[in-house]
Amino acid sequence: MAEHESLEYGKADFVLLDSVSMEDFMANLKLRFEKGRIYSYIGEVVVSVNPYRAMNIYGRDTIEQYKGRELYERPPHLFAIADAAYKAMKRRNKDTCIVISGESGAGKTEASKYIMQYIAAITNPNQRAEIERVKNMLLKSNCVLEAFGNAKTNRNDNSSRFGKYMDINFDFKGDPIGGHISNYLLEKSRVIFQQDGERSFHSFYQVTSGINDGADFKAVADAMKVIGFTGDEIQTVYKILATILHLGNLTFGVDGDVTLIENVKLVSVIRELLSTKEENVEKALLYRTVATGRDVIEKQHTTQEASYGRDALAKAMYERLFCWIVGRINDIIEVKNYDVKVHGKNTVIGVLDIYGFEIFQNNSFEQFCINYCNEKLQQLFIQLVLKQEQEEYQREGIPWKHIDYFNNQIIVDLVEQQHKGIFAVLDEACMNVGKVTDEVFLQGLNGKLAKHAHFTSRKLSPADKSLEFDRDFRIRHYAGDVVYSVVGFIDKNKDTLFQDFKRLLYNSSNQVLKVMWPEGKLRITEVTKRPLTAATLFKTSMISLVENLACKEPYYVRCIKPNDVKSPLIFEQERCRHQVEYLGLLENVRVRRAGFAYRQTYPRFLQRYKMISKFTWPNHDLPSDKDAVKKLLQGCGFEHDVAYGKTKVFIRTPRTLFSLEEQRADMV
Ligand code: ADP
Ligand code: MG
Repeated sequence: MAEHESLEYGKADFVLLDSVSMEDFMANLKLRFEKGRIYSYIGEVVVSVNPYRAMNIYGRDTIEQYKGRELYERPPHLFAIADAAYKAMKRRNKDTCIVISGESGAGKTEASKYIMQYIAAITNPNQRAEIERVKNMLLKSNCVLEAFGNAKTNRNDNSSRFGKYMDINFDFKGDPIGGHISNYLLEKSRVIFQQDGERSFHSFYQVTSGINDGADFKAVADAMKVIGFTGDEIQTVYKILATILHLGNLTFGVDGDVTLIENVKLVSVIRELLSTKEENVEKALLYRTVATGRDVIEKQHTTQEASYGRDALAKAMYERLFCWIVGRINDIIEVKNYDVKVHGKNTVIGVLDIYGFEIFQNNSFEQFCINYCNEKLQQLFIQLVLKQEQEEYQREGIPWKHIDYFNNQIIVDLVEQQHKGIFAVLDEACMNVGKVTDEVFLQGLNGKLAKHAHFTSRKLSPADKSLEFDRDFRIRHYAGDVVYSVVGFIDKNKDTLFQDFKRLLYNSSNQVLKVMWPEGKLRITEVTKRPLTAATLFKTSMISLVENLACKEPYYVRCIKPNDVKSPLIFEQERCRHQVEYLGLLENVRVRRAGFAYRQTYPRFLQRYKMISKFTWPNHDLPSDKDAVKKLLQGCGFEHDVAYGKTKVFIRTPRTLFSLEEQRADMV
């Protein structure tokens, strides 16, 4: 426990609070924030409060203080858990992951960058050139992803509009040799619409070169070059951005019963940018090819359909572009078989920076997906930290007071269960042969979920005032109630892009653009399968994310946003309390307090500490390792702070461990 931190800064670890009540928790959090102590612990979980000002705690000297140290030897810091994850990876050969959560603007992305910087700083002591190259690329990839995936919102000037999980691979020396990025649910609707005061993705302003964005443009282009994008590729990226901007200006009108493009000059510009035929661009915007039985006919769009198609094209081109960029970065940074042969053992640290729980004035399909994602992560947290902890004590036969916590599996099931989960009902409504409307979807929900404790709707609870509109339904999330409007669910889930556009782009003579649209290869009569729905794709990606995290040793960073005005001075009590609540921090403290900070199997414990007792050094003659550990700890006077399980020794407070480490250091 950060011994040297005086109590004037509050308790560095919430586990040490005199009592675990919300009041005490909040008082400590507030005190620490006001004293400029933005990090605290709950055991090994880092709690971070966004300082909204430059802190002088990330420099080289601070890095040196944390390097190779144990968690409780220094004041709480991101560097400490980055180091813990790194040590677990290097010394114990474990794959680890750092899960960073919190709402928009809470400081997740900044935290992930500091963690990456720390890892970059402590590795490759021998300055091997190829390792430096990899490190540089990993750091540069951030810059590119931010340009294309971040935007200014009312909550955060540099808000990530996608979820990101990045694996860093290490060789047997513990140096980074590559990585892999997975991206989740880019908010592509931002391409065509932004709330008042918000902007589209940074990349658009960088190509049109605003005052500040112009310099960023160069930085991004340079970063792309360093990563290994070719000149053609970078050119194409900017052509796609320009196309999307022009599409935004394209309008449709009618002449008699003919739909037409009002500003035809733009069509030539777009044609040029896309390297396709002019009449094809116009045709794809105004008609769609449909197969009726054996006949193929061209059906003219109404102006409304044409506008819908134009917007869908703009969104899809951007999303494809983003995924393609991630894919290209992966091609380049991924560890090749060759590297594995050369470098031997390959262990991973993953960093997850993903959108936190969202409750807006208007909650739609996007919030629904994001909140489902947070339910999944909470479930993982429960399984890994709370449940695992309790089960281990039971298994080891250690007396244990059962902690009651809310298990949110029921809400996860509500969303993702086959046949009657909300996603299943949504997909079913999209396949309806008759009418496919949001109302049909809502009826489906009402029919299948009427009795569910965490679901209700206007129809099911007509007297409920929070359900203002007929199209509202409400979910009782672990983090609180959220009212969603079904409006737009069907459309966003189907996410239709007319096949004509896919063919148009596939037939481009620009090879870089062409490869982004492989499905454009199919002729209309060959298109038989429906594309997967947005819900299905998201659910699948979440399930695989959680599976991936579940097999790693997890470390958590819980980020809290102190106020809505980006002020370094204001700690808004209610706002923070709500976050503490839905991050489950209090429950986390309770479990930690009931538990033990450290545990180790008897043989491994002896291996590490046997030199500090004459009974165990160099070997012991006691009947078992367990007896030897008992003898050793009695000798040190730690009897009161430990428990002996069937196979492991458990130590309650980190201070005890700290002292053992010191005694060991004196001996070796
Ligand atoms: P999130 O990813 O959770 O939406 P960010 O990490 O982008 O939030 O942080 C939002 C803003 O808050 C940053 O642009 C920065 O101005 C400020 N901020 C966050 N963390 C820190 C920090 N550790 N030190 C200083 N400022 C910070
Ligand atoms: Mg972010």
